[in-house]
Amino acid sequence: MKVTEHFQKAKDKTLISFEVLPPLKGGSMQAIFNTLDSLMEFKPPFIDVTYHREEFLYKKRSSGYYEKTSIRKRPGTVGICAAIMHRYGVDAIPHLICGGFSVDETENALIDLNFLGINNVLALRGDARQFEDKFIAEPEGHKYALDLVKQIKGMNQGNYLDTDLQNGVPSDFCIGIAGYPEKHFESPNIQSDMHFTKEKVKAGADYIVTQMFFDNKKYFEFVDTCRANGIDVPIVPGLKPLTRRYQLNSIPRKFFVNMPEDLVKAAVKANDEDAVKEIGIEWCIAQSKELKAAGVPCLHYYTMGDTETVKRIAEAIS
Ligand code: FAD
Repeated sequence: MKVTEHFQKAKDKTLISFEVLPPLKGGSMQAIFNTLDSLMEFKPPFIDVTYHREEFLYKKRSSGYYEKTSIRKRPGTVGICAAIMHRYGVDAIPHLICGGFSVDETENALIDLNFLGINNVLALRGDARQFEDKFIAEPEGHKYALDLVKQIKGMNQGNYLDTDLQNGVPSDFCIGIAGYPEKHFESPNIQSDMHFTKEKVKAGADYIVTQMFFDNKKYFEFVDTCRANGIDVPIVPGLKPLTRRYQLNSIPRKFFVNMPEDLVKAAVKANDEDAVKEIGIEWCIAQSKELKAAGVPCLHYYTMGDTETVKRIAEAIS
């Protein structure tokens, strides 16, 4: 079932969904199953699986020289999605990025998803690679998520890249995109980011999942601005609890979001890391309850390998 159909079916009920990361290369699928086994009691209608492009590593060789190698540390997104659907009978949503893909490879990836019966996809640009200061698309790849959305929408209309191909079977993907309540970090301002978010929706995106935020006001303002700009698709809040003190700095650095002063003060004052975690969990529960009361379609939790914490939050709001 498509994500948007899940929302329609749930009517005014707020759903709970989760995002998981593929295990590091060499890890087992059992790690994902262990995570999801304990989260299935919350009846997530769908599970997102992130995509991780290759990274460059510099390995020191015995000669003393460094060798540049390329490695995908967390492969397996599509296989994990298929395994999740097979084991739990819930929809799995692969994240698909522009980075590292030519348009032809993107088309083939979409064909794989289609043949596997996966009809949801979160369309993203991806970030700059390590050691690169900006996102660089493949020579024949998409520069922006907007172009990826257009390609997927085109396939939904039976348009494949080979224009000689007649009567191509249309795919039927429900397309999600990312949204940024606190603005995408590269955007010169909120209006510009909003403009391109609207372009993605006009091109065929069916719903938006937000970047994490710790102040609900940012989410509500974002939704209001989207609505004022004519963006009428569902907007799913993405949430992640603060669990360690160092995240007061690492989360803003990595995700370009602000931490509310009350949360910062409480975490700084906390006696130890366990106390920081409790504060983070309580904060996220309070955020979740307020969002649920406001009637959001779904609360989407970034597990980031910390199932127990996310489980406690889901229990508190179920
Ligand atoms: P875009 O929509 O392409 O936007 C990128 C920037 O360009 C923005 O500043 C935008 O305003 C601007 N822009 C957009 N279109 C145009 C245009 N046509 N012309 C000029 N400027 C434009 N990354 C991964 O690698 N793997 C994942 O699995 C993953 N999952 C994510 C899930 C969520 C819910 C979120 C919020 C992010 C995720 N990311 C993931 C991170 C994401 O790839 C980065 O945030 C990336 O920097 C931007 O992706 P985007 O799809 O928002 O890009």
